[in-house]
Amino acid sequence: MSPQKILIVEDEQAIREMTAFHLSRAGYEIFEARDCREARELLADKQPDLALIDWMLPDMSGLELTRNLKRNKDFEDLAIIMLTARAEEHDKVSGLEGGADDYITKPFSPRELVARIQAVLRRANSTNEEVLTAGVLTLDAAGHRVSSSGVEIKVGPTEYRLLHFLMTHAERVYSRAQLLDRVWGANVYVEERTVDVHVRRLRKALADPGADSYIQTVRGAGYRFSCRDV
Ligand code: CA
Repeated sequence: MSPQKILIVEDEQAIREMTAFHLSRAGYEIFEARDCREARELLADKQPDLALIDWMLPDMSGLELTRNLKRNKDFEDLAIIMLTARAEEHDKVSGLEGGADDYITKPFSPRELVARIQAVLRRANSTNEEVLTAGVLTLDAAGHRVSSSGVEIKVGPTEYRLLHFLMTHAERVYSRAQLLDRVWGANVYVEERTVDVHVRRLRKALADPGADSYIQTVRGAGYRFSCRDV
């Protein structure tokens, strides 16, 4: 299998080179662009799987580039992660509205970056797939089944939806309010502690194959799905 390709669009040389170094060590094929013009050439030429786009670029904002790419049919399969400095963090929402698949705030650890990239690429590849796997878990979306090593795990419909959402959005933290919004639907009135109840049930169901630890509590923030240890 050929390595997945990542384009780094960042004008700060030190950050770009450091990022390229860590990502190529993680097994990706890396291309580097200093501005949007170079990025466009490499995008057309190399057809990367994912672009890491800095918010502040010399010729055009990274957000604008992201928006343009997401509107372009030629790049509908391209996953995009935006890089942003802490001061720009309040712009996260507009960035996600611009179509980015995820956000990473500078400074970031290489480990975090690789984990987020893996999660986004997994999600991008799983949109057309019926079967999701993570650690010992397998979720068959067509059959509405969860299993581990071929043994079916019984989960209720809400737990199933919750697990499906978390598995397709691994490594990201969601608040209770966000989970209510995304899993229960924005128009349903449910108290936030309802989320805790279903998380508890889900963990109980997943305890047997030892996957309960995948549903991680992030204190003061919410929940995250991850197969890695906390
Ligand atoms: Ca920059």
